Amino acid sequence: MQEKIRILLVDDDEDDFIITRDIIEDIPGRHYLLEWAGSFSEALAQIEQKRHDVYLVDYRLGAHDGLELIKEAVGKGAAAPFILMTGQSDRETDEKAMRAGALDYLVKGTISPNELERSIRYSIEHAKSLAVIQRLNSELEQRVKERTQELGAAIRKLEQTNRSLFEAEKEVRKALNKEKELHELKSRFVTIASHEFRTPLSTVLSSASLIGKYKTTEDDEKRQKHVERIKSAVSNLTSILNDFLSISRIEEGKIYNVPSEFDLVAFAAEVADELQGYLKPGQRIHYTHHREKALIYLDKQLLKNILFNLLSNASKYSGEGKDIHFTTHTSDDCITITVQDEGIGIPDADKTYLFSPFFRAQNVTNIQGTGLGLNIVKRYVDIMEGTLSYQSELDKGTTFTITFPQNHPTL
Ligand code: ATP
Ligand code: MG
Repeated sequence: MQEKIRILLVDDDEDDFIITRDIIEDIPGRHYLLEWAGSFSEALAQIEQKRHDVYLVDYRLGAHDGLELIKEAVGKGAAAPFILMTGQSDRETDEKAMRAGALDYLVKGTISPNELERSIRYSIEHAKSLAVIQRLNSELEQRVKERTQELGAAIRKLEQTNRSLFEAEKEVRKALNKEKELHELKSRFVTIASHEFRTPLSTVLSSASLIGKYKTTEDDEKRQKHVERIKSAVSNLTSILNDFLSISRIEEGKIYNVPSEFDLVAFAAEVADELQGYLKPGQRIHYTHHREKALIYLDKQLLKNILFNLLSNASKYSGEGKDIHFTTHTSDDCITITVQDEGIGIPDADKTYLFSPFFRAQNVTNIQGTGLGLNIVKRYVDIMEGTLSYQSELDKGTTFTITFPQNHPTL
């Protein structure tokens, strides 16, 4: 047996209920179960139970109207179709009914059993199709949402891959540049070395062959002179080789800052003393220390190298008889060291590249040197976390200043 179609009639007039019931009873074939709600609120309560297959709603409902009821019920999720019943037939009511969510509208007093049956059947079918469409729609929305999420994840992954690729490329580029720099440095080494080695080597050769010729004791003085020249040429070669070695060890990252505690004044005086022997005639290093405290915490070996370079530059680029002022100064949180000379100075145009390897200023072409000393000094100061600066005036003199922070707990 076919299941009954359950209808809820919403109408505040009981007469209308009876009329409708009669019409429904006249519908041939099908079986209908008609229930009645006489007020707006009762209707809402019934609709909420979702027990009916279709709702017939009167336009007039006391203080409310049928459109309000349909809107509210649809808003609350009513799924069964609404058919509005009105007193008059016009397009405006029809449109209003459709906008409110009614699937059909019928004009009271003209309703025939056939018409009612057809309207109910169409509305129920229509509502079913709508439900299917809604379900498909929400499934589609869900799939779009899932796909969007998947796409988002894929994009994020791609972005990440992109970023790592970018980072990797940066690393490779950096390594390549470093390699290039090293290559350039090496080829400059070869050029400079062959040039710088030639002079002392030819000195050694000529002095050695002359020594071979001085056979008598009267030649002793001359022989001695050439022995000295050979010694000086060899020590010059050794110092160039040492500089090369230092640079290559810095390049390989093999120079470490190994600080220890020591007395700055005793140390600096010793360095100054050691260098006095290498100065030009009449030159002197004047060492002064400011402040009582002399205990410091630095890498002694690196500092010694720095001071040797700066002090020997000061001597090399100053004339005979010129003074060199070497001062150290300690405060609670830093050490400042200055080396000041009264020498030839550095031309402004050369200041930009002063710390680059092999760079030599244009006013020193007739003074021997490889241009490595200051590069080593700068790198050592960096390794020791200090700062290096200088001031220079052509033909007046140059002052180099180094500062190291002091924050060792025992000091
Ligand atoms: P070396 O490697 O033997 O020390 P160098 O003295 O030429 O050679 P650096 O010590 O690096 O090389 O100095 C680089 C350049 O800076 C020098 O060639 C010189 O032009 C300039 N310079 C350095 N110190 C002074 C100074 N005290 N007075 C004037 N010029 C200086
Ligand atoms: Mg030098």
